[in-house]
Amino acid sequence: MKIGILAIQGDFEAHARVLEKLGVEYVYVRTPEDLQGVDGLILPGGESTTHMKMLAETGLDDAIRKMAANGGAFFGTCAGAIVLAREVKGPPQASLGLMDITVVRNAYGRQLASDVFLLPTKLSEAPLEMVFIRAPVIEAIDKNVEVLAERNGKPVLVQQGRMIAATFHPELTDDTKIHERFVKLVEKTAMSEASSQSRVASRK
Ligand code: GLN
Repeated sequence: MKIGILAIQGDFEAHARVLEKLGVEYVYVRTPEDLQGVDGLILPGGESTTHMKMLAETGLDDAIRKMAANGGAFFGTCAGAIVLAREVKGPPQASLGLMDITVVRNAYGRQLASDVFLLPTKLSEAPLEMVFIRAPVIEAIDKNVEVLAERNGKPVLVQQGRMIAATFHPELTDDTKIHERFVKLVEKTAMSEASSQSRVASRK
C-alpha cells in the first residue's frame, strides 16, 4: 500500500511526522504523476481556496477524482475537509465533491472558530484533544455519512466508506488514533484492489 500527502500548501509536514511516528511510508503529491500507485491520499489543513486553485492548475483535481472513482481512500483535515466536500458555503467555492457533506467556511467568524477541546469520539473510551484553527462547520451530511465526533451538536469528524474528514487538526496533537484508522482503511483498499487485479489476471 502507498499513502500520498498532498503537499502544495499548508501543514502537510505535520501529517508526514505522524506517519513517520507510525512507521508508515508516504510520498508527497504535487503532480498527477505523483499519484501513481497511491491507494490513500491525505489532504492537509491550510487554505482551501489555494488548494483548489493549485489542484486545477496542476490537473491534480481530475487525477484525484479518477483515483476516487477507482476506489482510493481519502483523509481531509480542516481545509482538506472543505476540498473533499460536495458543497461549500459562506462563501460558496469550488471543491472536489467527493464526500456527501456540506461545509460552511465562516460559520462563527474566523476568530471564534479557533480553539482546543477535549471531546468524546466513537473511536475509543478516552476523549480526544481537538485543535480547531479557523475551522469550517459541517452543516449537513447525507445518511451514508457516519458521525464519529461532534461539537455543539455539529459533526467534526465523519466517515463515508473509505473517506474520513475532520474539521480540526489531528496532525497537530500526539494522539495518532485517526491516522491509524485511515492507514487501516488504506490497507483494506489496497488489498481489495490487489485481489480484484488478480481476479482480472486469472480470467485472462
Ligand atoms: N478556513 C480555512 C479554509 O477555508 C481552513 C483553515 C485550516 O485548514 N486550518 O481553507
